[in-house]
Parts: sequence; structure tokens; C-alpha cells
Amino acid sequence: MVHFAVRDSGIGIAPEDMSRLFLPFSQLDSALSRHHEGTGLGLALVRRLADLHGGSVTVESEVGVGSCFTITLPYHPVAVPPVAPAPPAPPTPPAPPRAGTAGGRILLAEDNEANVLAISEYLNAKGYEVVLAVNGYEALARADTTRPDLILMDIQMPEMDGLEAILRLRDRPDYQKTPIVALTALAMPGDRERCLAAGATAYMTKPISLRGLMALIEQLLQA
Ligand code: MN
Repeated sequence: MVHFAVRDSGIGIAPEDMSRLFLPFSQLDSALSRHHEGTGLGLALVRRLADLHGGSVTVESEVGVGSCFTITLPYHPVAVPPVAPAPPAPPTPPAPPRAGTAGGRILLAEDNEANVLAISEYLNAKGYEVVLAVNGYEALARADTTRPDLILMDIQMPEMDGLEAILRLRDRPDYQKTPIVALTALAMPGDRERCLAAGATAYMTKPISLRGLMALIEQLLQA
């Protein structure tokens, strides 16, 4: 058996309350003004789950001092088969030149740092140069100074959102044909239409599949 013990320094549980402890929707202090939140489901769930695994839950407690809950679960050691050594990798043929996309410059307008990191590292690894902007104003400014081959435009951004930035880009003669991919976490009915109506060439919903994004970028750049 494996024992997991969780100890707290909470209000403690009186012996007469122990029987109600694991009942669903039961709170020892059930007054509306009680200080301790919760649905009273946690311990009931823990007990049910432990039971289903053939285990158990026990509690030791002292009022005003705290409680210690112990979950006991059966442990069955599993013999892990040794991992076979991987066969030697076949020699990789030289990558074919990617006509039309090599050295492409992509403007990524996105305010979420984690997305910026994931997308820009991926694009860098694929051989693209990435220019960053964190809102619509920056996207317009960076576009003018760097002349990107393609623009990835997040829709929800501070200061100026992506829809507005797309509209303003399409207003300029230099950006009539630049592919713009709208990226949105909204995915509400009508989103796609709104993005395309603003002038986006294509539309992707988050979470973005990097591989899918890559395929779309290559398709747009080759078109
Ligand atoms: Mn955003």
C-alpha cells in the first residue's frame, strides 16, 4: 500500500462531527456567515475515489490544532520492459530548397508573451525572419519599417485591436496584397466573417496548431 498524508493547521474536527465528515454537501459549519468556503464535496469525492481504487481515507484531528488526512491506495509494482535501443536513423537527405518561402519575413502582432515565444521560435526554426509587435499601432509601424511578406495578426490586443489594424493596413496601397492571417481566441459565430470582412486573407482560432499555421503560411506565400 502507498500512504499519502495531508496535514493542515485548520479548525480541526470534533469527535462527534467525524461521522458527517465524508457526507456529500455537508459542511461542519453550515451557517450562511461561515468563514470557510466550499461545497462540502471535496472529502466525499476523495473517499469515493479512494474506494474505487480499493483504498481508504482516514483522519486524525484535534479541534483548534488541525487535521491529518491519510489516503491509502494499493500499490502494484509493474515490471517495466526494457526499452529497445532505437534503430540507427537513416541518413537524412538534404532538404529540398523551398522555393518562394526561404528568407520570408513575417510580422507577428500578438500581445500574449507565451504565444509570441512559441510562434516566433517555431517560425525561426523554419527559417523565417520574425518581426514582433504587441498591439495594432506597433503592427502598423513595424509593417512600414520592415515590409513583411506575411502578417500574423492577433485580434484581441490592447491599444488597437487586430481588426482595426487590418482595416488600416488594407487602406494603404502597399498592403493590398500582403497575406494577413487573423488569429483569434474568440471563435464565436461570425468571427471568421468579421475577420475576412476586415481584409484578413485567412483565419485561425487559438490554440494555434503550429504545424497547421506553417502549412497555411507556406500556402499563402507560394500563392
Ligand atoms: Mn491577444
